[in-house]
Amino acid sequence: MEDIRVGHGFDVHEIAPGLPMWLGGISIDSPDGFVAHSDGDVAIHALCDALLGALALGDIGHHFPDTSDEWAGIDSKILLEKVVEMVRAQGYLISNVDITIALQRPKIAPYIPQMRECLASIMGISSARVSVKATTTENLGFVGRGEGCEVWASALVCR
Ligand code: MG
Repeated sequence: MEDIRVGHGFDVHEIAPGLPMWLGGISIDSPDGFVAHSDGDVAIHALCDALLGALALGDIGHHFPDTSDEWAGIDSKILLEKVVEMVRAQGYLISNVDITIALQRPKIAPYIPQMRECLASIMGISSARVSVKATTTENLGFVGRGEGCEVWASALVCR
């Protein structure tokens, strides 16, 4: 039987004024950005956890602890590269991923094609296999108040 495995990831980052905002590997034009030990790319962090989860390899905090200076301010694309290497080392291929970003502002829909291309190239798969979706929370909750961003990700891997 073909070995197909699914993983799920979730992450949240706080938003604060004057910080860079990276999402899905792309720099977002915004007066606010994410509070983080790394570059705060909450979409890549959720994606990494989905890929790690598919193979029961723990989570991003285990592999790249935020107590380590090694990962301070790191470009999250490098973390994703390392996770993709872990998936390949286990003999698996990434079939597809699906990411949902909940952010009140700015509107990120215009950036989605770039995010899909960027993430696909890091994972070595077609952008047709990389879904990125965006939603607001209709001004409800901490996302709606502009205090944070939540991301959910799913990943399917097979060998
Ligand atoms: Mg994170």
